[in-house]
Amino acid sequence: MPIATRSRKSKSCTVVGGCGFLGRHMVETLLDRGYHVNVFDIRKTFDSDQVTFFIGDLCNKEDLLVSLRDVSVVFHCASPSPASNNCDLFHRVNIEGTRSLIQCCKEAGVAKLVLTSSASVVYEGKDIKNGTEDLPYAVQPMDPYTETKIQQEKIVLEASCDKLLTVAVRPHGIFGPRDPLCIPTIAQTGKAGKTRFIIGDGTNIVDFTYVVNVAHGHIMAAEALTTDSPLPGKAYFITNDAPLPFWDFMSRVLTGLHYPAPVYHLPYWLVYTLALLLQLLAWCVSPITTLTPTFTPMRVALAATHHYYSCDRAKRDFGYKPLVSFDEALTKSLEHFSHLRRS
Ligand code: NAD
Repeated sequence: MPIATRSRKSKSCTVVGGCGFLGRHMVETLLDRGYHVNVFDIRKTFDSDQVTFFIGDLCNKEDLLVSLRDVSVVFHCASPSPASNNCDLFHRVNIEGTRSLIQCCKEAGVAKLVLTSSASVVYEGKDIKNGTEDLPYAVQPMDPYTETKIQQEKIVLEASCDKLLTVAVRPHGIFGPRDPLCIPTIAQTGKAGKTRFIIGDGTNIVDFTYVVNVAHGHIMAAEALTTDSPLPGKAYFITNDAPLPFWDFMSRVLTGLHYPAPVYHLPYWLVYTLALLLQLLAWCVSPITTLTPTFTPMRVALAATHHYYSCDRAKRDFGYKPLVSFDEALTKSLEHFSHLRRS
């Protein structure tokens, strides 16, 4: 094989879900690092003459196979949005689509598969302080989306073999420019005047992870993933390595966008019970109409419990270190979302 072709292949990858929030940041970081990048997604959200786009459904093998030709690494960061609350879709894309992707990777001779999993695969609504990868999967996941993320991670890690090495990266609370959920949702609640309340005592510590650090962690994991490394078949938490009180993050985002910070405390049990009742109501009326509450037990638990994770295993096994500090990340993100400031 000519040297030029061989080196192109070893730095050639497909980002499945490459038109999403994390996916597009992955694409940009990969291009910066000299990769040849294919993007596979069900939609197209940007243009670039440095990227080859393949538009199709992950669950369709024919769509997928062409995008994997002559690549050595696949980054799988496609998923339906958790907000869609569509159990059938979560199952079809996260489980069946992932099985089909593994099969296609093997058929196309892809050497490595890096899955974007989630730290929530070990979270059950109870405190997690400096959690490590030794924590078991949640027996009672908080929602159907997380349930499928657990199954998806198991499928990917169990598929690891000499022909296709696999690894899972578990980010938590991703934020950054173009984030469709975290900061825009906080701004929206600020605008609606609904952010004066703190659920619980306000001291619970969590991880918020800058999207560029998450992309960097994926690429480092891919590059270290070799047969004689400890990575194949393993999962790794990737964080900013700077956990902070959840309500400090909320206050900094709100005040950064010129909204008042939350000050009044509400008991956790009360708000959680209300969210459960709302969920029950949505289920009761589901034969007649679709009610999709945004105020879910999962969201309430995430806002009021400790959930932060150690990234020591990623540091030890592939030298991961966040590139951008939390303060710098927040400043850049708030600058990006300056159009969401209170007018
Ligand atoms: P996103 O919705 O912005 O991106 C997901 C992409 O997947 C979208 O572009 C979507 O079009 C694509 N996609 C969905 N179904 C598809 C299908 N059937 N075929 C092809 N493409 C399809 O979401 P994101 O926030 O960038 O999340 C990326 C990954 O990170 C997901 O796996 C998610 O579970 C994981 N994750 C996200 C967070 C977070 O805070 N955003 C936290 C932990 C884990």
